[in-house]
This record gives sequence, C-alpha cells and structure tokens, in this order.
Amino acid sequence: MELKIVGAEKLKEKPKESELNFGTHFTDHMFNMDCSPTKGWHNARIEPYGPIMMDPATMVLHYGQAIFEGLKAYRTKNGTIQLFRPEDNFVRLNISAKMLCIPEIDPEFTLSALKKLLVLEQEWIPSLPGTSLYIRPTIMAMDPYLGVRPSYTYRFFIILSPVGAYYPEGFDPVKIWVTDKYVRTVRGGLGMAKTPANYAASLYAAEAAKEKGYTQVLWLDGVEQRYIEEVGTMNIFFRIDDTLVTPPLQGSILAGLTRDSVIALAKHWNVPVEERPITIDEVMSAHEKGILQEVFGSGTAAVISPVNELAWGDQVITIKDGNVGPMAQRLYNEITAIQYGEAEDPFGWVMSIED
Ligand SMILES: *Cc1c(COP(=O)(O)O)cnc(C)c1O
Repeated sequence: MELKIVGAEKLKEKPKESELNFGTHFTDHMFNMDCSPTKGWHNARIEPYGPIMMDPATMVLHYGQAIFEGLKAYRTKNGTIQLFRPEDNFVRLNISAKMLCIPEIDPEFTLSALKKLLVLEQEWIPSLPGTSLYIRPTIMAMDPYLGVRPSYTYRFFIILSPVGAYYPEGFDPVKIWVTDKYVRTVRGGLGMAKTPANYAASLYAAEAAKEKGYTQVLWLDGVEQRYIEEVGTMNIFFRIDDTLVTPPLQGSILAGLTRDSVIALAKHWNVPVEERPITIDEVMSAHEKGILQEVFGSGTAAVISPVNELAWGDQVITIKDGNVGPMAQRLYNEITAIQYGEAEDPFGWVMSIED
C-alpha cells in the first residue's frame, strides 16, 4: 500500500521536557487510514494532526466499537530512537479487532508507517531520563447509523504524545482497594481486548476507590469474586516466598506485553514463575504467614508499579512495611535499561526506527 505524506504548514511550539506529564501534548502529524467493504484498508496517509469530523450518528459514539494500543518510542543516550516489541502491539491490535468485529490491519505495513511518522516527528521525542513519546494507535467504527451491528467503515489513526518520566523522584508505591462489589469483565467478555468498554466499566469503581484514599482498584473475577484479575489498567504480580505468581490468561484479562516481559526476564534469571489462579484469600493468608514479599502491577505506562497497601473488606495490609521490593526494582531497572538501549537485549525486543 502507498503512504501519502502531507506536511503541516505550521509547526507547534514544543513543551518543555522537564514539564511533561501524560497525554496532554500532541505532535504535529498523525497517521490515518480508512476501511470500507469494497476497498478494505486504504488511503493510508500521514497528515497534520487535527480534529476528526464526525456525523453525530457515527457508530463508535453510540455502541463503542473501538480498539486501541499503547506503546512508546524511546530516545537512547546516543540519540537513536527505539521501540519496544512493536510487532506484538500490532498483533494484539488484531486480536482486539477480531473480538470487536473490526477488519484486521496489516501489522507490517502499519509498523512501517509508524516508523515513517516517527522519523517525521523525531524532534518530539524527549531525551530527559525516563521521558518518552507515547504512541496511541486507535481504530473506530465510522458508519453514520443507529442500528446495532458491526460498522462497514472504519478509521484507523495513530497519534503521538511526548510524556514525562513516570517516577521523576523514584518509585512511588500505590495503595489499592480490592472490590467485590464491582466487576470489570467476565470470562467470555471483552477483557482480552484492548477496548474502551473495559475502561468505561472501570470508572465508577476507580472513583469509589479514590474517595476512600486509594489510587487503583484490584479487580476480582466477575463470577465468584475470589480470583484476582488485574489492577487498574495493569496486570498484577505477587511474590510469595521466592515465587512470582500472576493470574493466567483465561479470557478476562489483557495479555500485557509488560507482563510477558516480566515473566520472560524472571525465567531468564531462574526465578520461579507461576501463571495460575490466585485468590484474594491466598494473598491475605500469605501476608499473615509473612511470606507475601511483594506486590506490583505491570504495564507500558509505569513499567512496574509497586503496591504497598491493600484494602480488602475491613482488612488493610501493608506489604513489607511499605518498602519497594527487590524484584520490582530489578525488573524495572532491567526493562527500562533495555528500552533505552542501556542493557543487552537477549530477547530481541528492541527495534530501532532506522531498521
Ligand atoms: C494495556 C493494558 C494492560 C497492560 O498491557 P501492556 O502491554 O503491558 O502495556 C493491562 N491491562 C489492561 C486492561 C490494559 O488495557
């Protein structure tokens, strides 16, 4: 497929790197591509960043038929630009596409278009430690129609946003609230897809958690409300004795790439890892026995997010006196070092955009 490039006439002023936060600044250009039943995916183009005109009846607004991805571009010390496992993001986008009845994209073409967009926008990729350029590919249903069915037409876009360091002053452990009142997804639902519906389903409980002074919600399974699923928008790990335990991919949680990277690294280090169902009762009893060493979330935005407090019913536990555990620290250091090209990459995760 051809990729048309239309440059912006006027470039924006770039934000100060030291003042970057998350998701508020957007670069000068974006990638766009359309899909129709007769042409399939077509009209791939890089053009100036800007609003998308929509009919108020556009299906995505009414029925939420949309999917997205999240990854980052990193600037290395010698100025080159790297992506972390980008093919896996586009493979996962197609898994989400299947679940949401959206036509699949060509991962190879999309990745080459993303690289061209990144070359064009390279000055937007910050270089202060911990900063990066967040990449948000999104596909949405575009038919102007109020009936319920999969749309015939779609828009795929990729936007870029320079983001600040997640932990500018070192790790910032989070307090989490375990809920058996609200559920996010169930097996057979949309939990395996990266789709806005899962986020819509999380808002009410997240606000309830915040009101109680907690940062995130720990989700239990939607049927028995016993088995642990995910934390906020991250996968979760428990270190019990010396074993890392994380819930298995059984259809209600997202197959996080950070989760997969944590598992691969731990195995590489000969740390025992178990992907198995784990109940909240097992976690509480491990704490009582003094063998719950660490709890942490994993996801692209934070990489590793240590948890220092857990509230379940009227029990509130502090994990290892609230200190960040050595495994969370080691994983964070190693994954970020690979992402920024400062450590060897034994798994071939990193891709330079000049490749
Ligand atoms: C994106 C996401 C994750 C984390 O996936 P990564 O590939 O590690 O960024 C975990 N859970 C949910 C619900 C997500 O949407």
